Amino acid sequence: MNNVVEHVLAAPSRYVQGRNVMKKLGSHLKPLGSQPLLVADDVVWGIVEDSVTAGFAEAELPVTRVGFGRFATAEAVDSLVETIRSGGHDVIAGVGGGSAIDAVKAAGHLAGIRWASVPTAASSDAPTSALSVIYTDEGEFVEYRFFPKNPDLVLIDTVLVANAPERFLVGGIGDALATWVEARAVAKTRAKTMVGDAPTHTGTALAELSWRILWENALDALDAVRSHTVTPALEAVVEANTLLSGLGFESGGLAAAHAIHNGMTAAPQTHGLTHGEKVNIGTLTQLILEGAPAQEIEDFIVFTTKVGLPNSLAEIGLTPDDAQDIGAIAAAATAEGETIHNMPFTVTADLVAEAMKVTETTSRRVRAAHGLPEPQLYRAPH
Ligand SMILES: [Zn+2]
Repeated sequence: MNNVVEHVLAAPSRYVQGRNVMKKLGSHLKPLGSQPLLVADDVVWGIVEDSVTAGFAEAELPVTRVGFGRFATAEAVDSLVETIRSGGHDVIAGVGGGSAIDAVKAAGHLAGIRWASVPTAASSDAPTSALSVIYTDEGEFVEYRFFPKNPDLVLIDTVLVANAPERFLVGGIGDALATWVEARAVAKTRAKTMVGDAPTHTGTALAELSWRILWENALDALDAVRSHTVTPALEAVVEANTLLSGLGFESGGLAAAHAIHNGMTAAPQTHGLTHGEKVNIGTLTQLILEGAPAQEIEDFIVFTTKVGLPNSLAEIGLTPDDAQDIGAIAAAATAEGETIHNMPFTVTADLVAEAMKVTETTSRRVRAAHGLPEPQLYRAPH
C-alpha cells in the first residue's frame, strides 16, 4: 500500500451564509431529518430562539433544544449521544460557538446521524471541518477526533456576526490568517493534511484566497461589527474565516502555528484567550521559526496589531523570562504526531522556545517603529 498517495479535498455538503438566514435553518434541516436536536447555551438560544422557531414552524419541524457547557469535553459528547438516542433524533445542529459545534459533530458521528454547524460568530474555522477538538473541563487540549465526513450543513447568519462581540471576529481573523502560513509550509513539503496524504491545489489555493480577502477587508469588517452593520467587507471576512479557512486548513494542512497553539492551552496564563488569539502567537512564531522575510514579519505584526490580535508574549500573559512555561509549551507543541512536524525542516522544542522568546522583542521593535501601542501584559481570569 506504500505507493498509494491520496490528495483529498473535504468539504461540507452545503454552506449557507447571509443576512437573517437563521430564519431558513428549518428549511435547510428539513431534507436532513424530521426530528432535529438543537444544541445551544442559554445566551445563544435567547438570541436565536425567535428566528429559529419561526423557520421551524414554516418547515413543520418540532423544536427541541438542549443547553451546553463551556467546552467540548468527552463527557459533554457522551451526554449528547444519550440525548440523541433517548429522543429518537435523526439530525443534530450545534448553534453558537466552536465548542458546542465540536461536541455536536462528535456526538452526531457516534450516534450515526447527520449533523449541522450553525455558528453565531465568525470566531474560528471549526464549523466546516470533519474533525472536533476535545478539551478538558479547564479548556486544555486533549485530542483531535476525525470523522469520515463533513457537516451536512453549515449555516451562518451575518446579522448575528455583526452583533456578536468584536473580539469574536478578531479571533476568527487570527485563526484564518494562520491557515495560509501553515498551508504553504505543507504545500512545500507535500506533507499530510488533516484528511489526506498530501494537499490538493484547491485546498492550498483556498487558504491563500482567505489570506488575501483578510488583508483587504479585515479592518473594514471590524468597523462594521463596531456599528453592528452587515457590509460587503464583513460578508467577505465571514466567508474567509468560516468557509475558506475551514477548507484551507483541512485540505491544505496545518503546520507549526496550530501545534504551538495546542501547546499554549496547557499554560494557565493563556486561559481566557480565544482560539484565534493564541493561534496568532503561533503564526508569528512559525514565521520566525521558518526564517520568513523581515518585511513579511514586520507587515504581519503591524496588521495584526491593527486588527487587535496579540503578537507578543506579554499579550498572552508571559514574559521571555518564563523559561519553564515556554519550555512546556514548546515541548507540547513538538509532541509526537503534532502538525508542527509538517514543517520543511526538523523542529525541536528548543527551536520553538527560542522563536517564541524572540516574538516579544520583534513585536516591541516593530510596534515602536510604526507608532503602535506597546503590548500590555495579559492577566488570565481566575
Ligand atoms: Zn484553528
